[in-house]
Amino acid sequence: MAGPRRITDKNEFLPDWLRDLTPNGSTRRSLAGKPYYRTWRKAVLSVFDNDEYWGTRVEISLPLPPHVNAELHAICERIMADKERVCGATDGETSADSYYSKMMMALFGRAVYDQIVDKWGSSDPKSVKAAEAFGEIYGNKLLALTWKASTVDLTAALKRMRDVFAGADADQARLLEKWAEDTFRAIFSVIVSGTAARQEVFARCDHALHHLVEFEKHEWPMADGLHRPTFKELFAFLPRVSTLLGHYPLVKDGANQGCSTCNEEHARHAGQQHSLAHSPHSPFVPQARTNTARQMRWF
Ligand SMILES: [Zn+2]
Ligand SMILES: [Zn+2]
Ligand SMILES: [Zn+2]
Repeated sequence: MAGPRRITDKNEFLPDWLRDLTPNGSTRRSLAGKPYYRTWRKAVLSVFDNDEYWGTRVEISLPLPPHVNAELHAICERIMADKERVCGATDGETSADSYYSKMMMALFGRAVYDQIVDKWGSSDPKSVKAAEAFGEIYGNKLLALTWKASTVDLTAALKRMRDVFAGADADQARLLEKWAEDTFRAIFSVIVSGTAARQEVFARCDHALHHLVEFEKHEWPMADGLHRPTFKELFAFLPRVSTLLGHYPLVKDGANQGCSTCNEEHARHAGQQHSLAHSPHSPFVPQARTNTARQMRWF
């Protein structure tokens, strides 16, 4: 049947993969009927159902956008790897109760398992509370394999740059907040577009922060000599969307200032045809350049 599908739809992606964690044959049917297992499974799926992206905003329809495909693949791979460990830990187990305990132990490891069972299960891993906790943790582990985690990282990266502006007044704080919001909104689509693009943006955020801190400590020479930067000067030094995406060098006057990454970037950018650098098909620096830049990072 064609049409939109959701990651948690019955007999589709996640429910299908989760079933692979359960035993074969009659033990599977027995386990599937147990209330603790149903609670656990429901808690895993709820993490995705309650997520504003996977739960409501995106229904999975064919053809899948590449980043959705990549994330589904990552989740599936993770569950298949877990399945190997569960299989090893439950070898020959025919009791559904024992299988479930061993499965949780294999999924979470002894320390987390004990912690959950002690806290929620009154030493029974099959209690409703423990099953809910196990399910929620596992669901969040899987969710962390998606772009979701990257949005948290991006917010944190932008915050680290804002934090350089210690002592900003209310108006300045608003300006910084708007910068962070606008930047987040513009870069978000790139973050979700794939792992390589994501890593590139985060590497550029790190490098921008590095120079921003330098600049704030007035180690970076300015046009009129060394002095403590004003808010305006420091704000002008904040990376913009176009620089974080690599359309322009991160630091405008950053050539020959002692940073090999920036020197490389400026040299490459100067040598690049402008139209090529700004081609809609390739908003990013070419891969070879990225690798060189990464190797040459000096902090
Ligand atoms: Zn640099
Ligand atoms: Zn530069
Ligand atoms: Zn350019």
